Amino acid sequence: MLTRRLYWEDTYSREFDAKVESMEGTRVVLDQTAFNPRGGGLVSDTGTLGGRKVLEVVKEGEQIIHVLEAPPEFGPGAVVHGVLDWDRRFRIMRMHTSAHILSAVVNRETGALITGNQISPDQSRVDFSLDDFDKGKISSYVDKVNEAVARRLEVKTYFMKREEALSNPGFVKLAKAMPPADDMLRIVEIGDVDTQADGGVHVRNTLEIGKVVGIKTENKGKNNRRLYFTVE
Ligand SMILES: [Zn+2]
Repeated sequence: MLTRRLYWEDTYSREFDAKVESMEGTRVVLDQTAFNPRGGGLVSDTGTLGGRKVLEVVKEGEQIIHVLEAPPEFGPGAVVHGVLDWDRRFRIMRMHTSAHILSAVVNRETGALITGNQISPDQSRVDFSLDDFDKGKISSYVDKVNEAVARRLEVKTYFMKREEALSNPGFVKLAKAMPPADDMLRIVEIGDVDTQADGGVHVRNTLEIGKVVGIKTENKGKNNRRLYFTVE
């Protein structure tokens, strides 16, 4: 059975009830969850489940597994209450939407492709394949990101047939990286700035991001120019 992804239906749901489908030691599978699992460069949500600390949430195949700190007292069939560490999750959402805007700006300005990203609550990172890695230019890209953020762009998510998504050159690159089993792709559209196939959690409006601040750059070779940033 596929776990219902409450984090897709309502990214702002921070508490929920769910039935325990199966479990093994500290690993729990639910019928539905608001915990976004680790993946796509995003760290997982944390919080509590039935009063037990959730250390991490991981995806194995199509299964979403909640890894608890200690074996719980509840068992399969029990209804448990989940609570997200919302401060952490909301920062992940702000960071993630910022990373999409940053990638779109750098791509538009330089044609650079994104080679990796790591979204964490405190500090995030986007890697680019870029010939000219000029620090002055990098800070001008961050300024452009903030200009977009200040435009209060609405962030929409919807599902689209895989073939239809693949026919749009704008998000072919990322769509191809999605598991072939999905015949529907989730699309995330940030105003007129960026549209791509994406499974992660985002804010509803760029207004919620606040301000994006560049922290440092790191040069790991032509295909890995790294930009670290945070949100304030
Ligand atoms: Zn993303």
